[in-house]
Amino acid sequence: RGGQTEREVPFAKPGSLTRVYAVASGKGGVGKSSVTVNLAAAMAADGLKVGVVDADIYGHSVPRMLGADGRPTQVENMIMPPSANGVKVISIGMFTPGNAPVVWRGPMLHRALQQFLADVFWGDLDVLLLDLPPGTGDIAISVAQLVPNAEILVVTTPQQAAAEVAERAGSIAVQTHQKIVGVVENMSGLPCPHCDEMVDVFGTGGGQKVAEGLTRTTGATVPVLGSIPIDVRLREGGDEGKPVVLTDPDSPAGSALRAIAGKL
Ligand code: ADP
Repeated sequence: RGGQTEREVPFAKPGSLTRVYAVASGKGGVGKSSVTVNLAAAMAADGLKVGVVDADIYGHSVPRMLGADGRPTQVENMIMPPSANGVKVISIGMFTPGNAPVVWRGPMLHRALQQFLADVFWGDLDVLLLDLPPGTGDIAISVAQLVPNAEILVVTTPQQAAAEVAERAGSIAVQTHQKIVGVVENMSGLPCPHCDEMVDVFGTGGGQKVAEGLTRTTGATVPVLGSIPIDVRLREGGDEGKPVVLTDPDSPAGSALRAIAGKL
């Protein structure tokens, strides 16, 4: 929309009824996108109108995990997002040919996010989830500017080293005056398939550590919203575009994710 003034972000308007959650993590590979997609699918299955912005510009993976293989279309001068499993989704990957890498700098990222929020026809959403890139980058600042009322959801593993990084990512909320809705601990142990024992592959306590740290730095109580075990079905569901909360809602990971969705 070169030359034209930017459209207002509807979710930032006073009185907007859409709850916006920005899903953040300290580093990659902790399951941030898997959590985002499953929370979205669980909420849609509960009858809510849900959208997801894949703002993980360099590591976009949401459409595949959600099974959204459609393309956005243009109607008038709005972008119509494809949807899958009841969730509307937009991703930078839908606008890059093939598997081309995205090599943008901050201002371009900000503009892409602005367009995803303002130029996409979302309709009346109950919930919008933003899958942020890992770390404390430009996009987190852009989110704070474009949707100041977005609340931050921090995903970490139980590992102490991961928790420290996650806490740093979350503490950006202090500078941006955003609320942290809570912490999700993912990969919290592997239930042994042969006995009832839990194998703590990544240790324990990371989620609690992040929640306590962020409670201290923000001065507001940050709860642990839940812990999700390592579960082959979750990984398979992500690879196949069939979120585990839908295909196996009572599996350990599926039920943990549904319980977290119920708290948002
Ligand atoms: P991030 O968005 O933090 O980079 P992903 O959601 O892409 O992380 O997850 C990284 C990989 O780990 C994916 O292959 C995903 O399927 C897998 N994974 C994430 N959480 C779990 C879990 N609880 N159990 C099993 N595999 C998981």
